[in-house]
Amino acid sequence: MTRYHRQIRFPHFGEQSQRQLQQLHVFVIGVGALGSGIAEQLVRSGVGKLTIVDKDVVHLSNLHRQSGYVEADAEAMKPKVFALKERLAMMNHEVTIEPLYEEVTARNIEGILEELQPDIVLDGLDRFETRYLVNEATRKLDIPYIYGAVVGSQLSVFPISHDGPCLHCVMPDVPETMESCDLNGVLPPAVHLASSFVVAEVFYYLMHGDFSYQMTTSDIHQGKVKKISIQSLKEADCPVCAQHQFMRLQNKQLKSTQLLCGGVFQFRLAPEQFEAAISKEVAILIDNPFVKRFRLEACDMTLYQDGRLLVYGAEDIHTAQSVARQLFEHPIPI
Ligand SMILES: [Zn+2]
Repeated sequence: MTRYHRQIRFPHFGEQSQRQLQQLHVFVIGVGALGSGIAEQLVRSGVGKLTIVDKDVVHLSNLHRQSGYVEADAEAMKPKVFALKERLAMMNHEVTIEPLYEEVTARNIEGILEELQPDIVLDGLDRFETRYLVNEATRKLDIPYIYGAVVGSQLSVFPISHDGPCLHCVMPDVPETMESCDLNGVLPPAVHLASSFVVAEVFYYLMHGDFSYQMTTSDIHQGKVKKISIQSLKEADCPVCAQHQFMRLQNKQLKSTQLLCGGVFQFRLAPEQFEAAISKEVAILIDNPFVKRFRLEACDMTLYQDGRLLVYGAEDIHTAQSVARQLFEHPIPI
């Protein structure tokens, strides 16, 4: 009996879908709770190749919902893609797993997708702005994309391809209230259910040769699951999928200062600052090849290899800037 016997036995799946799955190259953007759940199911099911991309390291506050990680990963502040690759390889050594430790932006997304040529892109993101960017890049390159999002106890999942509506058709504007992840929190069963619906849509595609073109929404707090057809939502004059105006993709300017989820301030420094000498007043909590963690006064700071500096615990942008300026032995303008 083969390791995939039980899914092959499912009448609609069979040997043919299994063979297709084993030839499939899946690209998962973001491997937090949603993405690591998707990755685990696909690897155990025997997907051919999996590329995982994420810019973040593992934190203790991730562990309540992100099933790909353990306490040792958080203690070492390991990049999620490397920690997940190790764990996935232990689940199924037959799958090729490619980790990319980087931030997906308008500057690199097209190049990455063109080079790697995945068959399908799956959404493990937690920012709507990046989803709209992925929507544009996958429409431009004609790669199917399955959208998945979780806020609080609610989730929604739907497939996007050239035959159906794109994300812009379904939601023309970024839903602002949904960006406030801290306000809404997130319940683990909602993300695990969302991961399952995303993988179910991949399986549907293998079994039927096309997507379901249905949006699945659920609220695990209310105990409800709904499916609605999205075909009629395709906009004949959609700027993205009809007129091919890729505004987000064209805007290569990254914000130098940004307030992130949870009152965290982000500054973009030159990548060379990762190796710069640190001021003597600063306590160094973690120092690994990918990330450094510091403490100064009441603030913690994380400096990433690519120059992103995150400041935690600052009351406002001025305090965050002041703390960040004191970080280096030779101060730089921030
Ligand atoms: Zn559209």
